[in-house]
Amino acid sequence: MGELALVRPRKRLFLGLASLGLIVSAAAVYALWLVMSPGLERIHAWLPYVVAAVLVLAVLVLAFGVLLIVLAVLGLPILSTARRVAWWAINLMFPIAIMLGRLVRIDRERIERSFIEVSNHLVRNHRHEFPPDRVLILAPHCIQLDVCRHKITKRADNCKQCGKCNVGGLLEMSKRHGVHMAVVPGGTLARQVIKSLRPKAVLAVACERDLVTGIQDVFPLPVIGVLNDRPNGPCCNTRIDVASVEKSLCLLLGKRDEG
Ligand code: SF4
Repeated sequence: MGELALVRPRKRLFLGLASLGLIVSAAAVYALWLVMSPGLERIHAWLPYVVAAVLVLAVLVLAFGVLLIVLAVLGLPILSTARRVAWWAINLMFPIAIMLGRLVRIDRERIERSFIEVSNHLVRNHRHEFPPDRVLILAPHCIQLDVCRHKITKRADNCKQCGKCNVGGLLEMSKRHGVHMAVVPGGTLARQVIKSLRPKAVLAVACERDLVTGIQDVFPLPVIGVLNDRPNGPCCNTRIDVASVEKSLCLLLGKRDEG
């Protein structure tokens, strides 16, 4: 279930597409400059060179970000400031990777899973310990048993922990570790919860698409994403491996022996 039962996404898929995207972006920027140059020159003789310098700098920063992601995935330590550049780069390269993936017919979900793996890797390698009261577990509403009558989206505490779905297990775990937990029906409410609780780190459970959107929405807030399992199709009685979520939670809390 969750991270464990799904085919483990390969980080190199996203890294490969991001690197390719970087080359394509550099070529596109150069082509754009060639088209713009005569017009810019008419405004001022120096303008094409000024614009070229700005564009080269932007491409170099992006290339540096992609290089940092590769180094981090290879297990090399990168500075905290450099990590921000890497996070910025993966978020910026994601739409380009999806576009290139579409051209070579790579399934979008595979790229999304790979992106989540890379993003998780950066957060995990950060090795920052967050205080429990500044950590939030966000779970999707579809994880609740569809016939359960308890209103857990208002308060997760309303769950009676009957064991018929994974909400009870997640709630028990969040209480044991002293972290916040919220069950949300969608991205809008998730953003509201984050705004009101102001966590320093989020452990989000969701499908590929929601995780990718969530990670990008709350950037630079660190998010570890755990994929849910959908044995009944999307958005209905989804499941999660609670032990896998706890393992990730322990990493955020700095409890590495427990994780
Ligand atoms: S564990 Fe909680 S949410 Fe799930 S069915 Fe039981 S009471 Fe409802």
